[in-house]
Amino acid sequence: MFHTVSAQYRANDEGFFGDFGGAPLPPHLVDPIAEVATQYQEAVTDPEFINQLHTLFSAYVGRPSLLYFAANLTQELDGAKIYLKREDLNHTGAHKINHCLGEALLAKRMGKKTLIAETGAGQHGVALATAAALVGLGCEIHMGAIDIEKQHANVRRMEILGAHVVAVEEGGRSLKEAVDSAFGVYAAAPEDYFFAIGSVVGPHPYPSMVRDFQSVVGKEAKAQILQAEGRLPDYLIASVGGGSNALGLFTAFLDDETVNIQGVEPAGEGLDSQRHAATMSLGAPGMLHGMHTKVLQEEDGSPSPVHSIASGLDYPGVGPQHAHLESLGRVEYVSVTDEETINAFLKLSRTEGIIPALESSHALAQVIKLAPTLPKDAIIIANLSGRGDKDTDFVAEWLEDHDRKL
Ligand SMILES: *Cc1c(COP(=O)(O)O)cnc(C)c1O
Repeated sequence: MFHTVSAQYRANDEGFFGDFGGAPLPPHLVDPIAEVATQYQEAVTDPEFINQLHTLFSAYVGRPSLLYFAANLTQELDGAKIYLKREDLNHTGAHKINHCLGEALLAKRMGKKTLIAETGAGQHGVALATAAALVGLGCEIHMGAIDIEKQHANVRRMEILGAHVVAVEEGGRSLKEAVDSAFGVYAAAPEDYFFAIGSVVGPHPYPSMVRDFQSVVGKEAKAQILQAEGRLPDYLIASVGGGSNALGLFTAFLDDETVNIQGVEPAGEGLDSQRHAATMSLGAPGMLHGMHTKVLQEEDGSPSPVHSIASGLDYPGVGPQHAHLESLGRVEYVSVTDEETINAFLKLSRTEGIIPALESSHALAQVIKLAPTLPKDAIIIANLSGRGDKDTDFVAEWLEDHDRKL
């Protein structure tokens, strides 16, 4: 079974985390999504389903992922001990394979033919196309045209894996529009498709289901840090786009009150600019993509255009559980700028020989700020949610545009 937490951190039967969550959907989607919730409930109590998933985690993904003590970075920052949860070492290079395998197994169990989803950085698309190939399902991925240009290698990978990639040309041609587009196709034929959402967002049961599939990350990290240090960490740090890698790490520690938890959002070019995606810092309660959550929105309630150098964080909403965890004061949400992120990307590459994803580099930028302020016996675990090979050309161009050299 997945890690269970005390009731205050769980959704109720309608999928509400306090005031946030639920499943506010157009009438024609209510039944298909309710069916996913029912089938998921059955699946998680079926030992065979859980066994299948855990077998794939170990035999296919390569779990448990390492918890790596970053000795060089620790020494350079001269503060707390820094551990990295190495989700970048998973097959396909990020944490997303964890929930994609779970969703693919559930879709198969429900007798669906095709997985359909949106993708931002292309990481969710690649992970889902991978899971579809392995489990034996079709795969249709909707992706903003701008992201297709930025992440061309990932588009090729999806196509090689047998997925059909649909370019979305509407609006800002990014993640938000890709979600709308994929939802539209699904709504027309929910009996054929399983909607495989790429984060802890969307209508109930997705925020709880994706979190459950990801909770293996924190469960492992807890056992690993107890083995290495004989005690719990003082801080957990993870980047927050929709919030799945963050809840993956956080869930097993939510009831451990001595553990401080921070989620890191993209401040982009600054919180006072129009170019950021800091939903927790600057958003307000609203409705987006079938959930009540915090949303960056215009005066008329429509979602704001957002920016981040990490296309996986480029989203005007956030998983409803994060909005709830903030309201409970259990998790603190901070933000870092594009520039701080690029600097963190380079620092980890050069001190540890590990190239992190730009998404994960947001968490590392916060580590770089926090670690020197803590005593040397303090322990930080940061989630290295993915590898940065996909971002190398972009970083080189960014540096050139800012008159800096590699
Ligand atoms: C997609 C992605 C993220 C952001 O998504 P969350 O649901 O917030 O985790 C972070 N890191 C990597 C490597 C990603 O691919």
